[in-house]
Amino acid sequence: EAELLDELVTKKIQGVRCEVCDIVEADGKFLTRCSGCMVTFCDSCTTPADGVGEENRNYKCDSCRYTAEKQKNNETFKEPRCHLCPQKGGWLRKAHANPINKKSYWKARPKEYQKTLFARPFWVHQLCQMWQEKITLDPETAEADCDQVVMTHGMGFILEQNRCGLCGIKKGMKARCEEENCRAWCEKSKGWNFHVTCARQAGLEVESQMDSQGWYRFYMKCFQHGGNSFNLRARLEDLIEIEKKRAGKSLEHANSRTMTFVHCSRLLNSAILVMQIMGWSWRWAEWWVEYNHTWEPLLEPGQKEEQMTKKELRIVESTKTSRSDDARRCRLAAFGAGLRNRDYDNVEKGDTVVLD
Ligand SMILES: [Zn+2]
Ligand SMILES: [Zn+2]
Ligand SMILES: [Zn+2]
Ligand SMILES: [Zn+2]
Ligand SMILES: [Zn+2]
Repeated sequence: EAELLDELVTKKIQGVRCEVCDIVEADGKFLTRCSGCMVTFCDSCTTPADGVGEENRNYKCDSCRYTAEKQKNNETFKEPRCHLCPQKGGWLRKAHANPINKKSYWKARPKEYQKTLFARPFWVHQLCQMWQEKITLDPETAEADCDQVVMTHGMGFILEQNRCGLCGIKKGMKARCEEENCRAWCEKSKGWNFHVTCARQAGLEVESQMDSQGWYRFYMKCFQHGGNSFNLRARLEDLIEIEKKRAGKSLEHANSRTMTFVHCSRLLNSAILVMQIMGWSWRWAEWWVEYNHTWEPLLEPGQKEEQMTKKELRIVESTKTSRSDDARRCRLAAFGAGLRNRDYDNVEKGDTVVLD
């Protein structure tokens, strides 16, 4: 269980989906997949210098080529992984940083310099790079230029005092929720910050938009400010919509219409998103227990529960009818019944009979 959870929240699960812009190309026409590590991305997320072309059917990504070369020469090396976030795997590109000041300082201290990010190339996710305005791509080498984001001491990145609102880790580069008034829980006067990869995996709104001049704006929104299509219920409904497109409005052709590779691929990709969102909720629930938290958001210091009214405690009375109304309203009852494989709605005591 712990292993599966770790996979869900820290590793890319591959489907036919561009791991950078998140577009699903069900027929895979404009997608390239590395034959070594299976990372998948679309044409529009590459630059010409990446050397991805139609003729390149046996494409190997930079990090796979790097690993193969080191192994061939029997050299010791660190497995490439992104310096901007804690996520394993994914499409990596080489990055470098040059000190923008203190150049004479470093000249006098070559040993110290060797320990910094300035001394050697490192790796970053294409996804992490794209959402950081200050990291640019060198058009000739396709390397990420990190001069603007590495701290003067060369040991880390700017704004590392901000915690990622999902994994809690300060290291790496985070993007901020673009809503100006965004305030993160427990982070005084700070908005939500997230590693771009963490946010993408937890199903937050990590998107790009073309402006009137044809420039792309890359942005991210937190749990609170993201659009409705990014919440869990919408993701679940996506799954149903995909099936309705194939099998008719009330799924009447479910058995008569064939399920093609394209259908399967769409379903798989949507299901992966749902699993990842649940993975993050699960992880948070575990942390909650681990750190021995009690959840009392409504009790102010000095207040005593015994002396408070139901209204003050926001206790809502419910009845059988109000509960079933609520369930119908959130339209998850049918999904829940499906999960438990029981027939709730049709007949009395139907919840004890297992469906075929
Ligand atoms: Zn893409
Ligand atoms: Zn690869
Ligand atoms: Zn990354
Ligand atoms: Zn994170
Ligand atoms: Zn926000």
